[in-house]
Amino acid sequence: MSEDIEFNDPNGISPEPNNSGTITPEIDRSLTDHDIARYLLQYLLDCRGISHENMLLVILGKLQKHTQNPDSQICSTDRLVEIIKGINVKLNPLGYKISRVGHGMGRNNVSSMLKDTGLPSSNRFYVYVNTVSSEESKLATRFSTREIEFIKWCVEQMCVPKGCEVIIDCPIVTEIDRIRGDISWNKCITYSVESSQFLQYKDWSPIEIESLLFKLCGLKWFSKDENGRISMDLRCLVELEEYLIANSVSTCENCHRLASQGARCMACSRSWHVDCYQHHITHIGTYCSCGESILQNGIYMI
Ligand SMILES: [Zn+2]
Ligand SMILES: [Zn+2]
Repeated sequence: MSEDIEFNDPNGISPEPNNSGTITPEIDRSLTDHDIARYLLQYLLDCRGISHENMLLVILGKLQKHTQNPDSQICSTDRLVEIIKGINVKLNPLGYKISRVGHGMGRNNVSSMLKDTGLPSSNRFYVYVNTVSSEESKLATRFSTREIEFIKWCVEQMCVPKGCEVIIDCPIVTEIDRIRGDISWNKCITYSVESSQFLQYKDWSPIEIESLLFKLCGLKWFSKDENGRISMDLRCLVELEEYLIANSVSTCENCHRLASQGARCMACSRSWHVDCYQHHITHIGTYCSCGESILQNGIYMI
């Protein structure tokens, strides 16, 4: 089974995984659907297991220029989803899958951080994740027992939302205000933690802690903002989703996935991702199901 999904270039030349969409398969024959799936998976793995949907669409478009079957030349999100489904069937017995997930900060914020591909803005990412059941064994595939203890301690700190100052130029605040078309709310919470707080972990030196945090940010488990705050990044949110929900991190009223960023009703704490909040305001209404106005009385989750 693994032969089916491992990409081995016979010439020893790998596609360039530099996130700029410049994959250049060395080919002198036309690509089959199977080849396309293998190249896409290889690209995703070379991007450390996380890629924005538009980057995969760019790669798919380039690969499809090398196919002969006209049905294989359609480059669309539906086609990408279909290919990923096929890859997942093969990954399933190995305990992995590619999960498609929307980023809570919303498509406009996500797009502003990516290279322009000319494709419509989207909040969707594809994340290569471990599907084995226990949270412990998910972590154990990549970290030592000692590191796992530290990561669990960090995640516990990040399961507790903390009140914080409303930062007017924070991208999530800006985007929610744009959707609301109004002046800012005065309440804000965050699941992120000052990185200095992690230095208090017992028995570890600051250098050890800094270096593991750096590694975790590189692996997209955590991310660090310009103010030195650490938050859970997509891989952590996807792989530990059930654990985090069980530990009271909020879920989105619209898509029911974990929501650590977006907007929250002040009266009842129901929450929405940024794009899901826009969907609710536009298509459902400006009130929460508890009766509170979510145009007027909300809390930012940054
Ligand atoms: Zn949502
Ligand atoms: Zn409410």
